Amino acid sequence: LIDLLQSAEKEGEVKVLETQMDVENILHMNQGLGQSSYANNSLLQRTTIAKARPILEESLRELYQALLPECLMVADMGCSSGPNALLVISNIIDVIHNTCRSLNRSTPELGVFLNDLPGNDFNTLFNSLPSFYRRMEREKGCFVAGTPGSFYGRLFPAQFLHFVHASYSVHWLSQEPEGLTSEKGAALNKKNIYIAKTSPPEVSKAYYSQFKRDFTLFLRSR
Ligand code: SAH
Repeated sequence: LIDLLQSAEKEGEVKVLETQMDVENILHMNQGLGQSSYANNSLLQRTTIAKARPILEESLRELYQALLPECLMVADMGCSSGPNALLVISNIIDVIHNTCRSLNRSTPELGVFLNDLPGNDFNTLFNSLPSFYRRMEREKGCFVAGTPGSFYGRLFPAQFLHFVHASYSVHWLSQEPEGLTSEKGAALNKKNIYIAKTSPPEVSKAYYSQFKRDFTLFLRSR
């Protein structure tokens, strides 16, 4: 992102990322499987998924027991293209299996929709699906599909999903917050693109207000 901003600045297009449309179309994690790819730089996020697993277990179990669906429709919002997306699916499969075993019920089929922005490297993700299916041999009824688009808007028909998962993604704002420049036009947040230790309170306020707007839209769209 910083590279992008710097080259835009050089070309006199500093406003390139100003609108929501631009952010949605331009931003994506580093693609492929190389050294700088997201696939190889997502350990921190993986740890968070592991830490949140008890919450996933509790809410999925509760949901399954309340609905007892024959087919469970699940979406992962902001899945990216690394192994974490598959880790989330296998965690969900595990929890459903264990829940069904303890209730003495057969497992439901699973529809999993992997969502990210259109520029996400869905190819790398889809290429890893055959070996994922092989590893999950016992789970025959899991159908994975990609859903490109912004989660700050509708992505599915109404009454379609049972369970929506998001990890490390909803803090991505839909656009640069308004109010990051002083009345005289000076940049309040210097060269930072997030709330840094040195950011003045107006910057936190601007980010908070953008987050509030975005998160409300995220929830309304579901
Ligand atoms: N969930 C994964 C990826 C986190 S990285 C993990 O835990 O490792 C955050 C991802 O959110 C990025 O791939 C980014 O493209 C995606 N993202 C950011 N804003 C988004 C939006 N508005 N709609 C859909 N995906 C978005």
